[in-house]
Amino acid sequence: MGKVGFGVKTLYKTAFQSSECPYCGSRETTLVERKHMILQLRKCGQCMLSFRFPKDELSENNSFYQNAYRESTVTDLPATSELPGHIKNNFRNVGRDLTDHLQTIKAIAPSGKLLDYGSSWGYCVHQFRDAGYDAYGFEISRTRVEYGRKMLQVELSHSVETFADASFDVIYSAHCLEHIPNPAIPLVQFARLLKPGGHLFIYVPNCGGAEARKLGVRWGPMIGEKHVLALTAEFFHNNLPNYGFENLCFASSPYASAPQRYELSALEGEELLVVGVRS
Ligand SMILES: [Zn+2]
Repeated sequence: MGKVGFGVKTLYKTAFQSSECPYCGSRETTLVERKHMILQLRKCGQCMLSFRFPKDELSENNSFYQNAYRESTVTDLPATSELPGHIKNNFRNVGRDLTDHLQTIKAIAPSGKLLDYGSSWGYCVHQFRDAGYDAYGFEISRTRVEYGRKMLQVELSHSVETFADASFDVIYSAHCLEHIPNPAIPLVQFARLLKPGGHLFIYVPNCGGAEARKLGVRWGPMIGEKHVLALTAEFFHNNLPNYGFENLCFASSPYASAPQRYELSALEGEELLVVGVRS
């Protein structure tokens, strides 16, 4: 959506929307900081979620990722002739080079059936498959799913409901949750899809880290049109146990040491990793 369209919609919603927490429903939310006058970063005093106000409805979030986001998707998707070069470079310039993440994940959960939740066109699924996992991807955009299936021959689905209960050993979700208006939606699915003892790996911008604290909403990844949540280790520490996750561990980039318990972790880097075990 253009800047003007987003601004008009934002002003309209500010006038009519309640500022209660999009996750736990508490009315006890406080204004942390404003961005560009019209956006607010708010924090819930009950569940500790920080979120953008005004909020997105789920329906408009879905249509955004099918339509508005699709325009850039089509131009972003590599041409057939470029693809072999990107595969060779671990998709460094068009997606995500998984080398760093794989090192951590392999050390904790070295094999099994893996789901990439929010997989885009499958550049990580492709790398997980090469690393020996039985890898699948869930992606809301049909355009990206079709591209990945055809061009990378990876297993992608645009409906998470197609995957059976307790069918995965590992769930990986990188830079996805901050786009979803209500974190309960992915967390319920993670709990449903993982086998007991299965591992969850969540990577998000670290909105509790040093840069985030120094710059506030001026830190790019914090909140905006696409990022509707500002996620922190504090939020996951408080809420993941409610979904049947235990032994929570945390780390932040550049991942010099293995993930540690919340109380022991420094977590000042720009990317946050949360690891949980399904009980
Ligand atoms: Zn809340």
